[in-house]
Amino acid sequence: MEVLVINCGSSSLKFQLIDSDSEKVLAKGICERIGIKGSVITYQPTGGEKEVSNIDMPTHHEAIDAVIKALTNKETGVINDMSEVKAVGHRVVHGGEYFSKATLVDDDVIKKIEECNYLAPLHNPANIIGIKACMNLMPDTPNVVVFDTAFHQTMPESAYLYAIPRKYYDENKIRRYGFHGTSHSFVSKRVAEIMNKPYDELKTIVCHLGNGASICAVDGGKSVDTSMGLTPLAGVIMGTRSGDIDPSIIEVIAKQDGLSIDQVINMLNKESGVAGLSEVSSDFRDITQAIEDGNAKAKSAFDAYIRQVVRFVGAYIAVMNGVDAITFTAGVGENAAWLRPMVAKYLGYLGVELDEAASEKACGVEGIISTPESKVKLCVIPTNEELAIARETLALVK
Ligand code: ADP
Repeated sequence: MEVLVINCGSSSLKFQLIDSDSEKVLAKGICERIGIKGSVITYQPTGGEKEVSNIDMPTHHEAIDAVIKALTNKETGVINDMSEVKAVGHRVVHGGEYFSKATLVDDDVIKKIEECNYLAPLHNPANIIGIKACMNLMPDTPNVVVFDTAFHQTMPESAYLYAIPRKYYDENKIRRYGFHGTSHSFVSKRVAEIMNKPYDELKTIVCHLGNGASICAVDGGKSVDTSMGLTPLAGVIMGTRSGDIDPSIIEVIAKQDGLSIDQVINMLNKESGVAGLSEVSSDFRDITQAIEDGNAKAKSAFDAYIRQVVRFVGAYIAVMNGVDAITFTAGVGENAAWLRPMVAKYLGYLGVELDEAASEKACGVEGIISTPESKVKLCVIPTNEELAIARETLALVK
């Protein structure tokens, strides 16, 4: 049986068809420019050629239709018909306080996701459109929603309250939610497996360092703190997002440059982070190249990034009163071996010892990268959010 995993953006739709027994990806792809002239679907069966087709996709309905046609195409498709798809798993960004786990979709679930739209105005409405399109085109197939926020619903109040007038929490649910929950959950479980330790006895810190980045303290299998907040703008420095800043900066810049709050927030989301500081790029491959070429701004952006990661790691060690493992994942965490000694250097006082050879080897692959003597394990675990969504989806429809 197959599970179709859908990740819907406002003008894009990523999909993967995963075989539930082997957990292998059978085919994957992306529909882009949905609702915009020149929409295009890229489809690739595993082991086959990538196909790019221009198909008119005025809405997500046509995009899902194109996905179904690609998957069932007589020549390049990977299934005979959609009845082979046992369920559809949808990534949904914000579940507010309603959802602490993956949930089977019904009208009430859609209503609650809609109620969270104000917390993720760019993402949740698109996620709902994708769900509704699947319900229309595959009326007999169950849909499951898997939330980025759900894993963090175990955080204690002391971790999620902001020190602003309480009515904003009581009436508007303004609080820390945290994101990348599917990844933090997947990776922390895998850490317990490779360390051969019970998940509910492990204290671990997961550094999900991609274009977007967040750090999570997982104590006994539960998220107890995380760096992103009400929105994914908070926390560590990211590719183009500022991470935590003094909120007054927004007022100062708005007044100085005559910008609206929306414009400043847009700048903090899209023109900040290592891209804004380095004036080079949001991509760490470009940053390291620029540092090699002697670019001082790239070096200072990089140093600020590392320091911010270490700040959160240090804070979470204190929050959990100890740590058994610190794990790197996502694009930067999985591939950028040069980053790890810089983080490990700050943690020497804890008895953390990086095995540099093991670290160099663990690029894009799983590995324990600390020495056997190290008091805290360092690990690299490639994240796989689609597989995690497929597993959670299947568990609900089995
Ligand atoms: P997201 O899912 O948040 O878009 P990813 O987890 O895919 O991001 O990470 C993408 C980022 O990973 C790129 O922007 C780049 O900075 C970084 N990255 C990818 N490969 C490498 C590499 N070999 N070395 C350093 N950084 C890398």
